[in-house]
Amino acid sequence: MRLVLLGTAALSPQPERMGPAVALENEGRIVVVDAGRGVSAQLVRAGLDPHGVTDVLVTHFHIDHVCDLADLLYCAWHYVERDPVRVAGPPGMEDFVERLLALHALDIRSRVVEFAALGKPARVWDDVRVVEVEPGPVEGPQDWHVRAERVEHGDSPYGIPGWTAWAYRLDAGGRSVVVSGDCRQSPGLARLLDGGVDVLVQSLNWAGLDSWGLDVSGDWDARFADALFADPQVLGRLAQEKRVRHLVITHFGVDPDLDGMAEVLSREYTGRLSFAEDLMSIQL
Ligand SMILES: [Zn+2]
Repeated sequence: MRLVLLGTAALSPQPERMGPAVALENEGRIVVVDAGRGVSAQLVRAGLDPHGVTDVLVTHFHIDHVCDLADLLYCAWHYVERDPVRVAGPPGMEDFVERLLALHALDIRSRVVEFAALGKPARVWDDVRVVEVEPGPVEGPQDWHVRAERVEHGDSPYGIPGWTAWAYRLDAGGRSVVVSGDCRQSPGLARLLDGGVDVLVQSLNWAGLDSWGLDVSGDWDARFADALFADPQVLGRLAQEKRVRHLVITHFGVDPDLDGMAEVLSREYTGRLSFAEDLMSIQL
């Protein structure tokens, strides 16, 4: 199995980092987790053909994770006859894809007509199978085992109705990867890591709220941040307890404190630690 960090930024545009997206490839089948800015071009830069994308797994609906989903679906279909792409994601995924297709309806209609006239494959990228994920197994490529668990990110302390975030574990070719989206420490993440994992791809935003002078027990800003994102010390402990063999940190804002994060993570985590860069490729 090959893992590629396609995009490692958070929301802010950065010249050296595209938006959140991870590709896993095994025997020619490609699963993409999240479809952030530039995902299709990054696949090509990584030597992965977008036509090989069988599945897209969406962790949550923050715009940096889904803004190029239409482009990815289109590029997966462009000029070829193929099986429908499966898109799995939180509640609301069906409506999200339906609205994307409606938004691009004129383009879709024009391509059906024009491609048919040219004798080219005239199936269109609206041939998408959407699954709204439940905790447990998720359909994936043949011989892959994909599992989803609900995790905490973006839903608290506000209690936004219908908001759900997912983390995914993917096992293929005897290797295992967990992509946890932007989640903070969550029971669902711990369950996905049970039994150990080769790689955990995890978002981390800071070395610690206290380094910003914020106090979780008092400051509203700190409570908000704590509800959204992982604490590096807790994450390091979890990764150590669960025998994460390689922890890959991603989802960076501008000028992240990587040394500070490394120092806090390494207090308890003794496995391999990497800070992701775009197109970092890990052969498993
Ligand atoms: Zn997010």
